[in-house]
Amino acid sequence: MAISLSLSSSFPCLRIFSSASASSSLSFSSPPVGLTAPPLVTSSSTRLNPCLCSSSNSGPFSDSPNIRSQMTPMSCLGVSMEEKPRVKSEHKWQRVLLKVSGEALAGDHTENIDPKITMAIAREVASVTRLGIEVAIVVGGGNIFRGASWAGCSGLDRSSADYIGMLATVMNAIFLQATMESIGVPTRVQTAFRMSEVAEPYIRRRAVRHLEKGRVVIFAAGTGNPFFTTDTAAALRCAEINAEVVLKATNVDGVYDADPKRNPNARLLDTLSYHEVTSKDLSVMDMTAITLCQENNIPVVVFNLQKPGNIAKAIMGEKVGTLIGNVTRNELPRELKVKAEL
Ligand code: UDP
Repeated sequence: MAISLSLSSSFPCLRIFSSASASSSLSFSSPPVGLTAPPLVTSSSTRLNPCLCSSSNSGPFSDSPNIRSQMTPMSCLGVSMEEKPRVKSEHKWQRVLLKVSGEALAGDHTENIDPKITMAIAREVASVTRLGIEVAIVVGGGNIFRGASWAGCSGLDRSSADYIGMLATVMNAIFLQATMESIGVPTRVQTAFRMSEVAEPYIRRRAVRHLEKGRVVIFAAGTGNPFFTTDTAAALRCAEINAEVVLKATNVDGVYDADPKRNPNARLLDTLSYHEVTSKDLSVMDMTAITLCQENNIPVVVFNLQKPGNIAKAIMGEKVGTLIGNVTRNELPRELKVKAEL
């Protein structure tokens, strides 16, 4: 199915792919295909059930060594100002931040967006929200426009170029929202700068409330500031909404110790520390993003979006791709016991 975004018709040269992209060097496996909608999501029924919440329950990950604080400032007083206590989930993660790059959305690159990819994402996200896992998404825009690649062209300054890049992420977000809602997944788009005719402005508390109600929240327009990336936006939003992990969906299986396209002996790494990522200059995420994750002890899982089932596996905490953090996989919370029906 062909899609054309109006920008590409007016500016045919707008469709660009940066060679700096971490995922650009690796090949695709066949994209997940599936245009059949799953049963209507009724995640509100799996949301918080006050009867199941014990006052002694300090959160879903009280037994976890890698837990970022789930507590609000008032929680030390036993009072939560903004978030209900959560049911202890049998899943590894209760709230995740899924980062989908623009490049991943482009699939086989015949168009800016591959609707098979957006539908596959929607279906897999639907399958996990049904289990009560809260999913927020940050979308990139590199399939349409990367500011850094265009800065300097015909007098385009970097800030203006980056604003165009941020607008590109809004296009992707609206497309993804429409796909999600077409299969019954309640979804809200929040933009980092106001575009109130098309989306809500980013309001942290409102975003958290949407998640608690079982809605998927798509954060668009990155951080709202030029000179940043959507990876940094993912780390930032993850920290802000108290999500437990950044799941970085790419077109590669994870992080390798060498470029697998050039070196057939390249090994897929299971785990990495933040320090290894920064010191070895592995092009997983930009430095600002990985540093933000490190400072806030946010684990990052890099995995291949093109493999069917991988998104749901990553969201449910199954072993997939490469884990970046201060912990090994074994130190993470207990393994998943329930699998989603895909
Ligand atoms: N961008 C920005 N500030 C942000 C996030 C994104 O200026 O906080 C711009 C930047 O020009 C970037 C473009 O938006 O190149 C698209 O984002 P990104 O390259 O991160 O997308 P992805 O690589 O994930 O597709």
